[in-house]
Amino acid sequence: MSPREQERQQQSARPDGRRRILVTNDDGIYSEGIKLLASSLAEVAEVVVVAPDREQSATSHSLTLNRPLRIRGIEDNWWAVDGTPTDCVNMGVLHLLKDDKPDLIASGINFGSNLGDDVTYSGTVSATFEGTLLGIPSVAFSQQVGEHFSFAAGAAFARRMVAQLLAEDHLPEDLLLNVNFPSTPRFTGVEFTKLGRRVYQQTVTEKRDPRGRRYYWIGGTPQWKQEEGTDFEAVDSGKVSITPLHLDLTDYRGLETFGPLHQRLGNLSPAEGEAGDGGDGTS
Ligand code: MN
Repeated sequence: MSPREQERQQQSARPDGRRRILVTNDDGIYSEGIKLLASSLAEVAEVVVVAPDREQSATSHSLTLNRPLRIRGIEDNWWAVDGTPTDCVNMGVLHLLKDDKPDLIASGINFGSNLGDDVTYSGTVSATFEGTLLGIPSVAFSQQVGEHFSFAAGAAFARRMVAQLLAEDHLPEDLLLNVNFPSTPRFTGVEFTKLGRRVYQQTVTEKRDPRGRRYYWIGGTPQWKQEEGTDFEAVDSGKVSITPLHLDLTDYRGLETFGPLHQRLGNLSPAEGEAGDGGDGTS
């Protein structure tokens, strides 16, 4: 066990033995999915909700640094933040719960699935990226939307899953699970999966507004590549999909297969006048 993990275990040994879960989402604090997730998880742990005060879907991993953030208590242990899911996780872990950190972060339940490459756009999943960056095991929950869908079955599953996770002796602090529920409320199983690939027939449509100026819509009909063992396939066959994710974006295969290219790039030396001031290093 790492020192950090030990520290967390000591922290989580509260006098009443209760474990604590920080719940957030990207659909906003008034969405149905977060209400059901929070009330379901409250049966197995203390729940503190810190969520955006309005919808923040597809905000990805954005962090608000160019304006102040405001936080508003809505009811006991429910806090609305005028920011992104990533802002909420920071406000929760580093401010509201800084003296008694949560044992787990749960994000969702999102209205709509977060499968395959789409996780890179997802605010729901990014909240869990931020959670693991702060050293707290995190789980994202998303609900596929279809004719007979409901959040109830997913919320009940989330409760059983989280109870199981909290019962483990110790969880890896970089544990990050992306859970997707199929639209049928009668789940046919649970499968550990890999991220599938979206095949976007992506288009940009150009139109004119009433003042004659051009405007654009990004859209298209998304499809996914038929491949075994993917999250798409599991959810399509009525199963709950659980994909373990990690933040290390290194392409380890690329380190080997791009060998000759790496060599050529590694031999590049900065041209006259290019070295030196590189700005603040962030973008
Ligand atoms: Mn959303």
